[in-house]
Amino acid sequence: MLRLLLAVMLAATLTSAEPAPGDAALARRVEAALAPFHLAKRPPGANDWLAQHREAGQTLAEYMAARPRPAAVRRTTIYLRPLGAVEGDQPALLDAVQAALAAYFPVLVKRSPPHPLAAIPDRAQRQGGQGRQLLSTWLLEVLASDRPGDAHAVLGLTATDLWPGEGWNYVFGQASLVERVGVWSTARFGPAGDPLRLRRTVHTAVHETGHQFGLRHCIRWECLMNGSNHLAESDASPPWMCHECEAKIAWSLGGDPVLRLRRLAAFAKSSGFADAETMWTREAMSLE
Ligand SMILES: [Zn+2]
Ligand SMILES: [Zn+2]
Repeated sequence: MLRLLLAVMLAATLTSAEPAPGDAALARRVEAALAPFHLAKRPPGANDWLAQHREAGQTLAEYMAARPRPAAVRRTTIYLRPLGAVEGDQPALLDAVQAALAAYFPVLVKRSPPHPLAAIPDRAQRQGGQGRQLLSTWLLEVLASDRPGDAHAVLGLTATDLWPGEGWNYVFGQASLVERVGVWSTARFGPAGDPLRLRRTVHTAVHETGHQFGLRHCIRWECLMNGSNHLAESDASPPWMCHECEAKIAWSLGGDPVLRLRRLAAFAKSSGFADAETMWTREAMSLE
């Protein structure tokens, strides 16, 4: 009986259409097929990220060498946790971020109950140029303190402005890869109802989650994983990942890359991201 069961399981594994994590041949095929769609990174302006931060980038081979075990082995869930009151356009933004993360990363994305932030220590709050600010490093501690055991990462979203510590005016978001937590704020993403606000919120959430899967900043191509120093630079980078970063996701998380690109195109359509819908539809067709 056991032998029969094992045989059935083996047959099921062999006939599965979903590539498993760690398929280097698939990753290289994705990288080669999608390469023609992507542009080399523009030279940075004086205030842009790469003019201010010397970074080495990360090729597909370097990514695979740095991660001998693909990511989606044990901790397969991303938790999305509101920090503070969920009001105004926050519910709609949370829905969009959940849909985006599930489309970009073939893993489970669950919502955690809001953390009320009822008792904030004095050291973790201050008045900044745009009103009240919360200390991002304290919020990371809060998220890490009750991180579920199966969490690949916990991402906290807040409407309150953030600052990361002495010497800084503000920060859009911050993550700890060691603790597998990240936090970001919608306070500086524009007024409710502005389409750019949705785009920026999703962009930041996906970028930070990309880091949680070991993707470093992309320095060779125009890519969602480009570092950005300011909002204008972030707005100018595309909502899609380049072929190199797509290949890293394919290797790390497995899954059918065509299905994933189709899911991304559907997400883009529902969110009004027409440029991304066109890109992902073309990319999916190139891999079919
Ligand atoms: Zn980054
Ligand atoms: Zn990239």
